[in-house]
Amino acid sequence: MSPTTRLSLVVPCYNEVEVVNRFHEALSRELSASGRPYEIVYVDDGSSDGTLDALVGLAAADESVRYLSFSRNFGKESAMLAGLRYATGDAVVIMDADLQHPPELIGRMLAEYERGFDQVIARRNRTGDPATRTFLARAYYWLINKWADVELTDGVGDFRLLSRRAVDGLLELNEYNRFSKGLFAWIGFESILFEYDNVKAAPDRKSRWTFRRLLEYGLDGLLSFNNKPLRMAIYVGLLLTAVAAGYAIWVLVAALLHGVDMPGYVTLIAAITGLGGLQMVMLGVIGEYIGRIYYEAKKRPHYLLKQTNMNPVDRLDKPPAPGGRTTRGR
Ligand code: UDP
Ligand code: MG
Repeated sequence: MSPTTRLSLVVPCYNEVEVVNRFHEALSRELSASGRPYEIVYVDDGSSDGTLDALVGLAAADESVRYLSFSRNFGKESAMLAGLRYATGDAVVIMDADLQHPPELIGRMLAEYERGFDQVIARRNRTGDPATRTFLARAYYWLINKWADVELTDGVGDFRLLSRRAVDGLLELNEYNRFSKGLFAWIGFESILFEYDNVKAAPDRKSRWTFRRLLEYGLDGLLSFNNKPLRMAIYVGLLLTAVAAGYAIWVLVAALLHGVDMPGYVTLIAAITGLGGLQMVMLGVIGEYIGRIYYEAKKRPHYLLKQTNMNPVDRLDKPPAPGGRTTRGR
């Protein structure tokens, strides 16, 4: 926590050739101004647009640049994981390469870190977001905080500073399905949050967050951190059984008392289709969990490296810590 905090930046990049040089310039300016020693770990997530060449160029010109390149696109979660494994600093800042995470905030993050915080979280407000999007996000966070075992905050993403022990904590979580918002919340430690104005994506850039992806990501969040949906399935099943039993008794009593022939055709069809649907939903819930178990059980690596200018020996100047940090990331 001395003022000579050594800082690592982890920057996942997927097809960012348009901006990565500009990003690097802005970032370097900020970092030199901070007066701390630093390294920047760029992770090329299998880009197809020459991002890797740009990173190789940056590394040739600037000795603080490290890069890793994946054999294909493995997703931002894997890219962040790789960056964190290779980062060697006392504090690590994760940020996007597309200039949506303003480098000017790093100074403030460092100041908070040096005051003793382990996680310094930059939270974007929703200025400029469509109203429906904002509403859906609010509803989602309300729901997930009721359900999940970890607390998630609206507007909080991956842009944050982590202390060494927070990074090491995260690296202990080896799961294949990585829902990083949940992982960050799970590790705990002293955290502080500050807000910044939302930076809109470049207009020519299509967000990877289509409605469908958001929906899937949302489901991931609900399922990754608890088994309540399974519980819920049990409760709904019990409730329905009770309703069906009650209904059967009612029909029986009515028939005994009045001797009427119940015209139950519509009820029957509705009950069959309704119950069939419910069973499918519950099977789906179970299937989701089994699918996760399946992926975890395979124990596949999160990514494969294609190219890097790092090796475990030249990871900054830090000797390997007890606990075998040298084996990480290979
Ligand atoms: N990214 C990545 N792998 C992917 C998709 C994205 O490493 O498969 C990186 C991307 O280069 C950027 C960051 O993750 O630095 C955020 O991506 P994007 O801007 O597309 O997402 P959004 O800002 O809409 O959340
Ligand atoms: Mg972006």
